[in-house]
Amino acid sequence: MSTIKHLHARQILDSRGMPTVEVECTLSDGAFASAAVPSGASTGTHEALELRDGDTRNYGGKSVEKAVSHVDGPIAKVLQSKSVSDQRTIDQLLLDLDGTENKSKLGANAILAVSMAVARARSVSEKQPLWRSLAIQYGVDTKEPLHLPVPLMNVLNGGVHADSGLSFQEFMIVPVGYSSFKDALQAGAEVFYALKNMLKQFQYVTSVGDEGGFAPQVADADHACSILMRAIETAGHKGKVKLALDCAASEFYQKGKYQVDGKVLSSAKLVDYYAALLEHFPIVSIEDSHSEDDWEGFGLMQERFGSKVQLVGDDLFVTNTKRIAQGIERRVANAVLIKLNQIGTVSETVDAIQMCQKAGWNAIVSHRSGETSDTFIADLAVGLQSGQIKTGSLSRTERLCKYNQLLRIEEALGSQARYESPFA
Ligand code: PGA
Ligand code: ZN
Repeated sequence: MSTIKHLHARQILDSRGMPTVEVECTLSDGAFASAAVPSGASTGTHEALELRDGDTRNYGGKSVEKAVSHVDGPIAKVLQSKSVSDQRTIDQLLLDLDGTENKSKLGANAILAVSMAVARARSVSEKQPLWRSLAIQYGVDTKEPLHLPVPLMNVLNGGVHADSGLSFQEFMIVPVGYSSFKDALQAGAEVFYALKNMLKQFQYVTSVGDEGGFAPQVADADHACSILMRAIETAGHKGKVKLALDCAASEFYQKGKYQVDGKVLSSAKLVDYYAALLEHFPIVSIEDSHSEDDWEGFGLMQERFGSKVQLVGDDLFVTNTKRIAQGIERRVANAVLIKLNQIGTVSETVDAIQMCQKAGWNAIVSHRSGETSDTFIADLAVGLQSGQIKTGSLSRTERLCKYNQLLRIEEALGSQARYESPFA
């Protein structure tokens, strides 16, 4: 098996124009690959540390030159000539070199970019697609039928991702009534066009937020969901496209209360607010219904809706197996949002996915609001058979490149590909 010959990092810009880390990895057999890390805006406080320089003369303090220098310096030194046959060994070397709980010494952005670049270089060396290489690394059977992930498509943006005034961050459409990813993607795009026409008709702005969804000034969540239902119907996809929400509630939580759509609600009253929405709309998934440390609020949701609705922890779990294990024990949700850069290595991300799978929970592989053209998460979702992916709207290339990669994978899989709704 080949070994690491050269690692090199550089600062590039993400979809918001913010600096991020890109790493190139060259192996002894000449295999070459690069990887770039994303960045969040509604970041959970328990996430691994994204190292930024903090020098306001450079990119307003957001540059990542320190993280870049950690790759070219200490990380390259430790990984030099190491075999890439096992991703877990590489990731453990990175963890040992950093030595902190939250990757604050080297920066999770430096560590993750290396971890991803090595994984991709290995797949090049093996002459395998990345998804298959990942499946083999982590013990997923690639001879069985393989599921393409069902996309949760964020077509209306609110919260800290847009100036729409909506409290909830993401209103998503979920194409479930289709027999291929290709058809599901088409349905999503057609609903997106219908939505644009409707917004124009009602004289809303049709400019888009950070994840490519529209950001109209609509009054509240009920109104936003109604607009989506009309768009689904107009596009001819009624009954086959459902809705999902990412409330990102940590962002509207203040001093024990939730400020939602002009109301101030207790944790328990917020559950009633969701109950009303669930009654009126075909919502199959609610993410971060409550703030990141409001375990009781999440618990109330699970008790009341857990048997029929997917309840997802994002800021709550931060892709961290310690928090997920606690969540499983306390029954506060039934699904986890999986973000590579919340935890900082490929192997720890896989551990989070596999912990969910063992517990009978759903895992949704996710992008960040600040993205790059890297399509790693598309391969990760197929390779680890996550069943769902969240990668934004039907506009902006940093979102669509993941969908397009899934089209390629589905085509390559041929009759081995499956597309099924994970929702009852
Ligand atoms: P973020 O948003 O990348 O800004 O954290 C995505 C999400 O909350 O799911
Ligand atoms: Zn979220």
